[in-house]
Amino acid sequence: MKKPLSFLSRESLLQAGVYQYGLIDVQEIPFSPEVRVMCTACPSYNHSWACPPAVGEIDDCRQTCLSYEKMLVFSARYELEDSFDYEGIQAGMRAFKEVCDKVFQLTHQHEGRYLLLSNEGCFRCKQCTWPNAPCRMPDRLFPSIEGYGILVSELARKAKISYVNGPNTVTYFGGLLF
Ligand code: SF4
Repeated sequence: MKKPLSFLSRESLLQAGVYQYGLIDVQEIPFSPEVRVMCTACPSYNHSWACPPAVGEIDDCRQTCLSYEKMLVFSARYELEDSFDYEGIQAGMRAFKEVCDKVFQLTHQHEGRYLLLSNEGCFRCKQCTWPNAPCRMPDRLFPSIEGYGILVSELARKAKISYVNGPNTVTYFGGLLF
């Protein structure tokens, strides 16, 4: 795996809970209108500042991504009891949100512009303020990578990391733009 930035060392990423990572140019990010169609079936759709329609149209999301140079694509893998282990899937999701926080914290000591895209919606507040009031924690608002219209299976392929990581496991993906 390539070293993305001097302060995002392999050790610091693994310590944060990252399973695999890869670096791509933002021009390589695969957008797909079909992903946005799938978003409409998600409970977070129209219920979060991190998701559509709050994140804007897919072209807005693309332009936001293109205002950066690189994306560090990263994943975290969690064991499940079996493929129906809903509690395990939810626990993995919560753990992945902590991984995202830790990856983003690595950027804090370094000047630059960063945007972290995380898996699915934002669950920091019991009830999101969307659409009635501004986000309570805009500096910790990590938009949904799927909500941005990014085809994650193809993103993983471009970053040369695995999309599927064995039976009875779940893998979540994020992207750090810089
Ligand atoms: S931090 Fe709270 S208000 Fe902001 S997007 Fe997340 S849940 Fe909504």
